[in-house]
Amino acid sequence: MRLAELEHLARPQAAPPVQPCKRRHDPALACNRCTEAHEPVATGCEGPLCRQTANDLVVYWPDRGVGQVRALCPPHRDAFTARNQGARIQVFPLADGTHTYFAHGDGTQIATCRHCGHAIYLYPALRGAREPWRDGEYDETGRCPVGEERQGIRVVHEPAVTLAERDWARAASTCTTTADLHPNEDCPARRS
Ligand SMILES: [Zn+2]
Ligand SMILES: [Zn+2]
Ligand SMILES: [Zn+2]
Ligand SMILES: [Zn+2]
Repeated sequence: MRLAELEHLARPQAAPPVQPCKRRHDPALACNRCTEAHEPVATGCEGPLCRQTANDLVVYWPDRGVGQVRALCPPHRDAFTARNQGARIQVFPLADGTHTYFAHGDGTQIATCRHCGHAIYLYPALRGAREPWRDGEYDETGRCPVGEERQGIRVVHEPAVTLAERDWARAASTCTTTADLHPNEDCPARRS
């Protein structure tokens, strides 16, 4: 066997470095997950035929009934508020990592925790708080048990803000959250 062939067969000395997709592979390898790794987790605008990313959550309270919530891009937000002059409307910016929200109520945002891969909630009352993300309505501290176990320090639920962060966190959790996003509180793996 010639030397060139041996070199070809030689296994790399060290594991390849962690790539933007959070996996280890040859950096020269074309990787779809690397390509989208830095893409932010976002919510699409609900404006008619709009393909933009939403920046704001608009909560609209009709004269009777519960608030209706819409994620809108700046032009659609302006159009909506102009069209509903005089109505009770509240507009606030979407928090980083928000990928969905409750369509009714006063504007609860939903993200994926970058530590435990579970659904986490930002309730309107905690908007602007330093550690605002919660596991559910009865979670008072926002502490992330999985993150704490892994890191050995106090860790709170924090949103994954890029697609790579989100996918990595979901894949690392050993329950069914990858297919069916749920909060820790309702985790089937915890009930046994
Ligand atoms: Zn990759
Ligand atoms: Zn729009
Ligand atoms: Zn968590
Ligand atoms: Zn789970």
